Amino acid sequence: MTGKAALREALEGLAFSGDCRFDEAMAAHTTFKVGGPAELWIQPDAACFLSFTPALLGRAKALGIPVFILGGGANIVAADRGIEGIVLDMGRWAGMLPGPEVLGPGPAEREETGRVFAAFRSGTPADQAACLAASLDLGGLEFLAGMPGSIGGSVWMNARCYEKSVSAVLEETEILDGDGAVRRVPFRAADFGYKKSPFQDRDVLILSALFRLESRPEAELRAVMEAHRKDREAKGHYRFPSAGSAFKNNRAFGKPTGQIIDELGLRGLRRGGASIAPWHGNLLINTGRATAADIRALTGDVREKVFAALGIRLECEILFVGF
Ligand SMILES: Cc1cc2nc3c(=O)[nH]c(=O)nc-3n(C[C@H](O)[C@H](O)[C@H](O)COP(=O)(O)OP(=O)(O)OC[C@H]3O[C@@H](n4cnc5c(N)ncnc54)[C@H](O)[C@@H]3O)c2cc1C
Repeated sequence: MTGKAALREALEGLAFSGDCRFDEAMAAHTTFKVGGPAELWIQPDAACFLSFTPALLGRAKALGIPVFILGGGANIVAADRGIEGIVLDMGRWAGMLPGPEVLGPGPAEREETGRVFAAFRSGTPADQAACLAASLDLGGLEFLAGMPGSIGGSVWMNARCYEKSVSAVLEETEILDGDGAVRRVPFRAADFGYKKSPFQDRDVLILSALFRLESRPEAELRAVMEAHRKDREAKGHYRFPSAGSAFKNNRAFGKPTGQIIDELGLRGLRRGGASIAPWHGNLLINTGRATAADIRALTGDVREKVFAALGIRLECEILFVGF
């Protein structure tokens, strides 16, 4: 573990406003509701974010303190023993970015090209971003309605639902690079794939994302978004704490991973308080008292059984942090 002295040194003299706690339980910050203490959990206010965060990351690097960037905590399992070093929570770095410079071309060009854009800070909840866009009659993000997590996490994961990946609408990402510089990264299709983004291989903090949208009436967008939320509700997504799909799909399997797990009769399979949902093979749930170790062990059980029966190697979609 890093220890409080080094963590205090990392913070010393930096102008900060926001929330900051030692030994903060990660269970309070993940949709799985599991996870031990982060040595230091820190959630900077938007007002100080762009001055404080690069300085903090620079100090952490110099002191050898690991930093984990936390979006909505909707795709992670934090270890029971906790997370070493700093957990930087993006929750207050949220909202739509105003101004023509980030909203893309002016009205004249918009009319000519039909191209409209909207940019969001990375801590904006994905559902909220879809709502904010809809309130300006901008369509394209409806597929994210009802999906837990933040814009930053959805870009990092290249989240996918209702047959659409974030990469389908991403125009540009603004990042804080490992060397402390703010950079704009234009979208390149070749860098993205199924649940894959270029940011997974780099030490970067995603600051904001600019999306290429289309003009559509708000009422129409709201109807689609509501249908998605209802569909998720009907599929039992919110019934128990989880992180959504536990395993990735793969076209080479010939069918959805959930169906493979279903057909092997693994629904309801348990480890301690963790269970494969009795109603969906690819949903791993915390029935109330699961530990992170239970969840990890259960993913191992499923992978083993699927491999033994079919020779298929399932890949976890949920990320294990601090293990
Ligand atoms: C009920 C439920 C349903 C779900 N359905 C779907 C679905 O349909 N499709 C789908 O794709 N996913 C789904 N998920 C998973 C999850 O919602 C997505 O993966 C989401 O994009 C995760 O975003 P997050 O902000 O919570 O990321 P986190 O879980 O906080 O982090 C995930 C990764 O992203 C990194 N990260 C987060 N923010 C930043 C940032 N600003 N800069 C750099 N790195 C960052 C983290 O370090 C971590 O490595 C579901 C989850 C739940 C609980």
